[in-house]
Amino acid sequence: MKKITDNVYFIGSSGCDIYIINSKSEDGLILIDCGMDLELIKSIKEENLDPMYIKHCIITHCHIDHIDACFQLREFNPDIKFYAHELDANAIEEEGFNNRTAASWYGIEYKPIKLYKKLVGDINTLNFGNLNLKCIHTPGHTPGSISIFLEINQKKILFGQDIHGPFSEEFNSNLNDYYKSMKKLIDLNADFLCEGHYGIITPADEVKRFIQSHLKRNTNYFL
Ligand SMILES: [Zn+2]
Repeated sequence: MKKITDNVYFIGSSGCDIYIINSKSEDGLILIDCGMDLELIKSIKEENLDPMYIKHCIITHCHIDHIDACFQLREFNPDIKFYAHELDANAIEEEGFNNRTAASWYGIEYKPIKLYKKLVGDINTLNFGNLNLKCIHTPGHTPGSISIFLEINQKKILFGQDIHGPFSEEFNSNLNDYYKSMKKLIDLNADFLCEGHYGIITPADEVKRFIQSHLKRNTNYFL
């Protein structure tokens, strides 16, 4: 558990790196991805955050290492609301998408959950308390990948879960889309990048360098 700025914490890694945002309002806590272990999510108690106050979970994309614990989390708190982009929704909500979720890579069974809201189009802003979470459609790794952008106390925080890839036909990855998506993210000039497997990258120069280096490695193009 690590505090990134006021309201934003890195909880830890289980499958992927997971983060939590405290809205400091009746909207409670907002989880960014679930990872694979409910017990890790419950460890937010160490920071005096109550896991029962997790009222929302934004899913960045449909991969098992980011969504496996959603089912357990919903059993723990049936009122939790899940959000994801419509283009990844069927893999999250239905059985039988073991390639799209990469569950077949892990050799495990994914238990589907229903979404409260499917995000549509390029930008969806979700408002929790005084916080505006801008969910930006950044396809490439998967068709429905999103990145979440939050400005708080004059700091720009970007949750960009699988910027590094990988890319596979099994996930319907698209490198042209990825190139355009990474350009969008670089233009945000974020101070903190909360990545899905590389932890927290900061300051802004390092964020830009990280995105550019993975873009170059994956596409041979450089922005
Ligand atoms: Zn992924």
